[in-house]
Amino acid sequence: MDELQRTDPEIFDLIKSEERYEIDSIRLIPSENYVSKAVLEATGSVLTNKYSEGYAGRRYYEGQRYVDQIESLAIERAKALFKVDHANVQPYSGSPANVAVYVALLKPGDTIMGLSLPHGGHLSHGWPVSVTGTFWRAAQYVVDRESHLIDLDAVRKLAHKERPKIIVTGGTAYPRLWDFKAFSEIAKEVDALLLADISHIAGLIVGGVHPDPAPYADVIMTTTHKTLRGPRGAMIMCRQQFADAIDKAVFPGLQGGPHNHTTAAIAVALKEAATPDFKTYARKIVSNAKTLADELLARGFSLVSGGTDNHLILVDLTNKKVIGKKGSKALETAGIVCNYNTVPYDPRKPFSPSGLRLGTPAVTSRGMGDAEMRQIANWMDRAIANAGDEAMLTRIASEVTEMCRQFPAPGLSLR
Ligand SMILES: *Cc1c(COP(=O)(O)O)cnc(C)c1O
Repeated sequence: MDELQRTDPEIFDLIKSEERYEIDSIRLIPSENYVSKAVLEATGSVLTNKYSEGYAGRRYYEGQRYVDQIESLAIERAKALFKVDHANVQPYSGSPANVAVYVALLKPGDTIMGLSLPHGGHLSHGWPVSVTGTFWRAAQYVVDRESHLIDLDAVRKLAHKERPKIIVTGGTAYPRLWDFKAFSEIAKEVDALLLADISHIAGLIVGGVHPDPAPYADVIMTTTHKTLRGPRGAMIMCRQQFADAIDKAVFPGLQGGPHNHTTAAIAVALKEAATPDFKTYARKIVSNAKTLADELLARGFSLVSGGTDNHLILVDLTNKKVIGKKGSKALETAGIVCNYNTVPYDPRKPFSPSGLRLGTPAVTSRGMGDAEMRQIANWMDRAIANAGDEAMLTRIASEVTEMCRQFPAPGLSLR
C-alpha cells in the first residue's frame, strides 16, 4: 500500500494498526473472520470503478463485457454450492437483503414471524426499532425458559394464532441447530413462506456440518462475510417461482448499481468454499467451539442451552458476579475480543446485559485447535476473575499476543 502511505499517511497508519491488532488479538466475535488474500485482492480491485445497474445481459450501461461474466460466475457458483434454482448476488449487505425479500414477497402490514432479538434473532426479522418491524407487522417466537431451545410446538401455536405471511429462521446468538424441515411444515400449515436467514451458518452448511435448508426454504438469505469467509455483502437465493420478484426488489426496488468489486470477491469466496479444505475448516470451527464450550463449563461458566452445536457460544456471566459489559471490556484489555450480549429472559437491559457472545470462525481460520481453545478458556477465566485489575489484564494480553504470533492470519501481511 505504498501509494496510500504517500497520499494519506493518517488512514494508512490506522489501517496498519488495525492489521497489527487483528494479528495480535484473539478474535472471538462469531460474525467476524479473516478472508483470504485472494478475496482481499478482488475487493480492492479496479471493479470499484464501474457502474452496472441491471443484471447480466440486461444492463442500463454499456461497457459490461467483463462485469457481466464476473456476476454470472458468482451466480453459477452460488447456485451450485447452495443447490438452489436462483441466486441474486447484488444485495449490499444482510439487512437490506432481508428488506428486499419482504418487499418482494409481502405487502405492507403483512406479518413477519421471526426469532425475538433478545432470544438470539436479528433486528431485520421484525424487531420494532428496525423498519422491518414498522413497515410490516411482527410476531416473534422465543426459546424455552429452561432448555433455551426453540420450542417447535410453541412456534406452531404462534403461527396458527398470528397467521404470518413469512416465517424466518436464523439468528445471531442461537448456539444450536435449526430444524428447517419442521419449520417448513409449520409454514405450510398456515400458508406462509419460509425464509432461511443463514448469515451466521452459511459456511457450516456448505461445509456439511449443519442441516441444509435448500430442500425446505422458499428463500435463503445469507451474508457473505461471516462463516462463508467472503467480502462484506449478501446473497438471496430462491425457488425459480420467486426469482423475478426477488430480482426486481433488489434492483430497481431498493438499490442502484451493484458493488462489482464485492461481487468478484464473493465469486472468489464461493470458489474457496467449494474445496475439500473448506469442509475441513467448517468441521474444525464446530469442534473448536465444542472444545471451548467444554473448557469453559469445566471452569464454572454457565452456557446458554448448556453448550453449542455450531460456531458460537453464549455465556451467562451472572454466577461469576460480573456483568456482560464489564466482562467483555476486561477480555478486550486482555487481548480477547468478543461482545456483550443478552441471554434469553435476561433480567438486565439490552445495553447492559448479562452475557457474552463468543465464536470460533476467526481463530479457526488461523489454524488454532483444541490446545489453543483450552488456553483461551484459561485466559478468559483469569480475566473474568480479575476484571478491573488492569495490571493482570495487561499481563494476559502479552501472553495472548505471544501465542497469536505463532498462528499467521490469512490475508494479513505481517506476522
Ligand atoms: C449479520 C446478520 C444479518 C445482517 O447482516 P448485515 O450485513 O450486518 O446487515 C442479518 N441476519 C442475520 C441472521 C445475521 O446474522
